[in-house]
Amino acid sequence: MKTECLQANRQTLERAAALLRAGEVVAFPTETVYGLGACAEQAPAVARIFAAKNRPADNPLIVHVAHMEQVPALAKKWTGLADKLARAFWPGPLSLIVPAADAIQAIVTAGLDSVAIRMPSHPVALELIRLAGPLAAPSANTSGRPSPVQAAHVMEDMCGKIPLVLDGGTCTVGVESTVVDVRAAVPVILRPGDIIQEQIAAVCGGCEVAKGVFEPVAGKAASPGMLHRHYAPHGQATLVEASAHMVRTICDLYDQAEQAGLRTVILSSRRHAEAYGARQQIVCDAQGDMNHGLFTALREADARGYERILLEGRPRSGRGMAYMNRALRAAGFHTAE
Ligand code: AMP
Ligand code: MG
Repeated sequence: MKTECLQANRQTLERAAALLRAGEVVAFPTETVYGLGACAEQAPAVARIFAAKNRPADNPLIVHVAHMEQVPALAKKWTGLADKLARAFWPGPLSLIVPAADAIQAIVTAGLDSVAIRMPSHPVALELIRLAGPLAAPSANTSGRPSPVQAAHVMEDMCGKIPLVLDGGTCTVGVESTVVDVRAAVPVILRPGDIIQEQIAAVCGGCEVAKGVFEPVAGKAASPGMLHRHYAPHGQATLVEASAHMVRTICDLYDQAEQAGLRTVILSSRRHAEAYGARQQIVCDAQGDMNHGLFTALREADARGYERILLEGRPRSGRGMAYMNRALRAAGFHTAE
């Protein structure tokens, strides 16, 4: 299949919507990462998402809406917490897990009785959903690879597999949405993102974090996505925990790897860049914070053929929670201190 990558505008949006209504899969920009969308009510179209991504069938998709009138057909119950959080943070990088409506396609929820719903804030995403209806859309990467934050990243993974990529520039957030289960009395973060624990707690009076956020889970997970390999670069990655001696540890690991003949790179932050001296680096926060640049840096490390990748750690709270959740998975939970 020929894959077109076109600047998002009125004409290409209408073309994308027509493809979606006809049961095709289209990649589009959101404020978090690029999504791979299909009409949520068309099971065969949603099946094409799983095929294009090589996504495990047990990993459910987030359904994207453009206005609140689209929610009742998807959610059996809109809980008080869902209402509070949607009012506070929608449109925005927050996915809410609520009981699923009976009519929802089982392939979307991977057979679960709950569904993840999000209203993105990106104007291209919103307009596409207005034209085509609610879209089931995971990140537009091959499963296991870093999520795409530029149309070129989507093309790396999806060229030949889908008919159209809408190019809306670089995603401003750079990590996927915060996923929060709002079915019980206290909200639980299943995947941290740009909306942080403290912001959710301020609205709801409290907020917990699921166990699998910072550690590998086996068997039954609060969120199936926790079970799968994620964001993995080709090189062997190690995450060095944040501490007073982090830079020294990274330099030592770097020098050992170089001596062993491995092409090595540090995914660094601006404030430490000078301390690494002449060692190879890709600065993650060159255009924003570490969350914003991590996925691009992982893809760049692969493109440049690095065999050993050293990641800086951050505190596991606040905005660092999303970064550490992704960086730990990118490193296959391989850490050093
Ligand atoms: P992605 O679409 O690639 O951003 O991944 C969506 C994430 O949301 C995955 O980690 C899923 O496991 C998670 N998710 C989607 N629906 C549910 C649900 N009903 N319950 C728990 N987690 C979900
Ligand atoms: Mg994903």
